[in-house]
Amino acid sequence: MDKYFSFSEHPVTSFYGENCFTMKKMKKYLSPSAFTQLEQVNQGKRFLNRELAQEVATAMKNWALEKGATHFTHWFQPLTGLTAEKHNSFIHPEEDGTIIMDFSKNELIKGEGDASSFPSGGLRATFEARGYTTWDSSSPAFIKDVNGAKVLYIPTAFFSFTESALDKKVPLLKSNQYLETQTLRILQILGNEKVQHIKINVGPEQEYFLVDKKFYDSRPDLRLCGRTILGNLACKGQELNDHYYGAINERVTSFMKELNIELWKLGISSKTQHKEAAPNQFELATVFEKANLAIDHNQILMDLIQSIALHHGMVALLHEKPFNGVNGSGKHNNWSISTDEGHNLFSPGDNVQDNQLFLLMLTSFIKAADLYSPVLQASTTNSSNQHRLGGLEAPPSIISIYLGDKLTSILDDITSDRICENNLEECKDSFKLGIYALPKLPKDLTDRNRTSPLAFTGNKFEFRMPGSSQSLADSTTVLNAIMGKVLKEAADKLENAKDINLELHSIIKDNYLNHKKIVFNGDGYNNTWLQEAKERKLPILENPIDSIVQYSSKKAIDLFEGANIFSKQELESRTTINLQTYSKQINIEATMMIEMIQKGIVPAVTTFLNTFTRSIINQKKLFLPSTKQTQIAIFLSQELESTIGLTQSLHSALSIAHAKNTNPLSEARYYQQEINPLLEEIRIHADKLELYTDKNLWPYPSYDNLLFKL
Ligand code: ADP
Ligand code: MG
Repeated sequence: MDKYFSFSEHPVTSFYGENCFTMKKMKKYLSPSAFTQLEQVNQGKRFLNRELAQEVATAMKNWALEKGATHFTHWFQPLTGLTAEKHNSFIHPEEDGTIIMDFSKNELIKGEGDASSFPSGGLRATFEARGYTTWDSSSPAFIKDVNGAKVLYIPTAFFSFTESALDKKVPLLKSNQYLETQTLRILQILGNEKVQHIKINVGPEQEYFLVDKKFYDSRPDLRLCGRTILGNLACKGQELNDHYYGAINERVTSFMKELNIELWKLGISSKTQHKEAAPNQFELATVFEKANLAIDHNQILMDLIQSIALHHGMVALLHEKPFNGVNGSGKHNNWSISTDEGHNLFSPGDNVQDNQLFLLMLTSFIKAADLYSPVLQASTTNSSNQHRLGGLEAPPSIISIYLGDKLTSILDDITSDRICENNLEECKDSFKLGIYALPKLPKDLTDRNRTSPLAFTGNKFEFRMPGSSQSLADSTTVLNAIMGKVLKEAADKLENAKDINLELHSIIKDNYLNHKKIVFNGDGYNNTWLQEAKERKLPILENPIDSIVQYSSKKAIDLFEGANIFSKQELESRTTINLQTYSKQINIEATMMIEMIQKGIVPAVTTFLNTFTRSIINQKKLFLPSTKQTQIAIFLSQELESTIGLTQSLHSALSIAHAKNTNPLSEARYYQQEINPLLEEIRIHADKLELYTDKNLWPYPSYDNLLFKL
């Protein structure tokens, strides 16, 4: 990017979305009837037929060629958690040695690839290794421009020959549809005939660290594990609270400027940027939009953060916990439901009807989260997020909902019918009609509580457990499914009710009274909460493996099969993949630990000890007393002994990991119970060695360099 790129010469409005083939642009490239048909496809009213696909393919190709693209790719989200792409050029050779640039309906609709190298958790039979990708017409194609190499990206779903989902998009789209259907049913039963569509909204807040590339390059643990597995906190951490919202320096400002330009060109609405709590930690939030788009956009955003940081000599870390002792990075999932007319269903309204709907939605969510909190937690559990959750920086491993005192007391009043004590006149009539009198609900119900995993923030729920590197597809799929399930039950009851108002009242009351144990407005970081949560009998899944397996629980299977989002087999395959990924990641960290200790730390400390002890001996020759120095030398050699001994134990424990464990679950437990503690123990000793060894001999850049130099 030109350093002097000027927004007065190139206003954002002049290039916003220029690399995205939005519906507005499609309108110009498609015939009116094709455009209308495509809109209907996006609204779920019809399928994409072959003629329409051909017209769309030609339109996409024409636009892409005009923009200077040479290649196209189906872009999908396999279960690695990353995105995948395989570029094909538009060229088609002719008999006479010339070429034409072509792109057919088949190339648009379906791509075929070898799925055998993607994780499938056993879903793919060996005889059928093919995987298929198909265009998700609700997410517009876009062009990625890397130094003039332009490729048309077509967002696609990825599934197997037997139509099992091999990605995160298929279940997400199914869960959207499920929740939309159930919400529409509720609205229609309550007399709203106008609403045609429901929107599930997601607003992601992305946290990340930036480190100077020259220090990063010398930290093999950061490069290969994404986090430092060794290292002492510098004498300063985040205790002064001087980073949060602090002034952004020149280098990072230039990086953010370039990042914003590239995001805006793609129609990704980068909105809020600021320094986060830990040193060198930042946040970027985009404006909320339809879940499917928001999640695609967040995947692109993560990619761009990483590639653009490199232009500025920095590396962006998306790992949940790159550094011990300072906050890790999360990705808050701000989630809400609205109508196509923009009515947010988690917003209190002006009249009784609106408020009934609001209370139904709110209490349904309370019920959903209470019933399915383990599944919700499973959607955010992996080996890296386990380091972040808990402690004093992120929600504990107990899911609770923060409503704020105001809203909680309103709900308490309504469900105990106490409201009438203050409002007797109105109540008399209302009760006859089966409508309970509601006070006018305050519009601004937004209170702040940073310690809650699931906070109601006025008109949306903010789910704070997802980690910075995770796709929000998983958590959104679960949020959609559990809410859809509870609304379905409510819709079933309401459809059969003799008196809708009475039934509604009773549903709201039951939802709240039976599930309010999940509502907690206190400090989630306080130890007394753990005790209280136990007394409330809330599920507490502190062990990550116990959390991962929740996807295969009977409750999860009934939920997802009932909603037609996942089959039992798909859920089991996902559990297998998550367990295997867990084991593999710890295995990489353990192997890295052995390498860093043996090849880097042992030689460095030995060299230091040699010179150090020689100098003590020389001083002795001169009859200079040196007891303190001798103590240091003894301490260092003892710590070195312990480090070497524990590293050997780690080596032995790793070598039998596979032989000792016959299935993914026992293997993951082994890594969690046997390998993890060894890693932590080695770190304690190795970090002591760092404290006493000459820093010129220490082979790895210190936290001081990683966290305080940019
Ligand atoms: P904070 O850090 O105070 O939680 P931010 O401004 O960083 O707030 O991020 C809030 C996020 O919530 C943004 O992505 C914003 O677009 C999103 N958001 C706001 N309203 C809604 C809504 N109704 N539904 C979903 N997301 C929303
Ligand atoms: Mg924020």
